[in-house]
Amino acid sequence: MEIERKILLNPGPATTTDTVKLAQVVPDICPREKEFADILKQMRKDLVKVVHGDSDKYTSVLFCGSGTINIDICLNSLLPADKKVLVINNGAYSSRAVEVCEYYGLPHIDLSSSVYELPDLNRVEETLKENPDIAMVYTTHHETGTGLLNPIRAIGALAHEYGSIFVVDTTSSLGMIPLDIEQDNIDFCMASAQKGLMSMTGLSFIIGNTELIKKSKEYPKRSYYCNLYLQYNYFEKTGEMHFTPPVQTVYATQQALKEYFEEGEEAKFARHRRVFDAIHAGLDSLGFRDVIKREWQSGLVVSVLYPNDPNWDFEKVHDYCYEHGFTIYPGKISTTNTFRLCALGNIDEKDIEHFFEILQIGLKSNNIHIPVNY
Ligand SMILES: *Cc1c(COP(=O)(O)O)cnc(C)c1O
Repeated sequence: MEIERKILLNPGPATTTDTVKLAQVVPDICPREKEFADILKQMRKDLVKVVHGDSDKYTSVLFCGSGTINIDICLNSLLPADKKVLVINNGAYSSRAVEVCEYYGLPHIDLSSSVYELPDLNRVEETLKENPDIAMVYTTHHETGTGLLNPIRAIGALAHEYGSIFVVDTTSSLGMIPLDIEQDNIDFCMASAQKGLMSMTGLSFIIGNTELIKKSKEYPKRSYYCNLYLQYNYFEKTGEMHFTPPVQTVYATQQALKEYFEEGEEAKFARHRRVFDAIHAGLDSLGFRDVIKREWQSGLVVSVLYPNDPNWDFEKVHDYCYEHGFTIYPGKISTTNTFRLCALGNIDEKDIEHFFEILQIGLKSNNIHIPVNY
């Protein structure tokens, strides 16, 4: 079967291999069969391996839902009674975590700072010192809205120094930027199948410290469907997801994990870097400017400033690229007009070179000056 290849430069879902797409086409199966439970069992082990976790200390728990379900689950399940969450917030995804805290009425401190800059670790430490009731420090590794990469290892070390657990949203870095759960001082991290693992949407997972999950059994139960201990315990007892899993996505993810280990962490990281460098080279050649300091960028997302040209119209440029097989994506910074180009997925530098040929024609056909003006 021939499937038309589309290059997704949006921040996930990402371009997948045909083998992953086709892995979804399987004979009908009831997911309560042992055959299916065996796949989940191996997948839970493989996910711990992706972050180099020791299987005696760490486990993974799968959920049916998009990545935001993980944020919800970690916050509502892992906070003891009468304790506080500290959210280190310098972007859209940590702001989402703050909203989750608000919805559940969780005591929290929103330590917000500029979305263009790294958080001030002195401020983090002062806050921890002044608030001994903080039991969870939460942040986002790669703020996908801007492309900024946060210093999680240092934040995790501070969290532990002050007796707090460290939860980090690694949805847009896991499987792309090498992570080591122990060395990075992570107690819980998370992602969904369609980002770094290059699988399909609908399957999300939390990887974390098994003892801490067991301990959370005694914490206030704030949700039924989104409770970490309940799902963990069900997996341990039955090998299955508590409620209906996304069957076809599980098959796709089984194949995606196989391909992940075949490509190898180092080689995959290098490929994302090549794509990122090619994106920057293309932007430079057309005169575009990015918004985050280069050394703070994740290597996976570039936020690009809208040019100052009366003919600039993101929608028109998007539509031209889309018609030619390339998807670009608007920005997520409230105060600045930006669009994003992302290095996720099964793509390489040749695809980016081809994209910039198309983009250049798209700009010209809209009478946008090259090099672009600011
Ligand atoms: C994609 C993403 C999520 C999840 O978003 P969904 O729309 O629920 O898939 C969460 N955090 C980060 C950092 C992300 O990039």
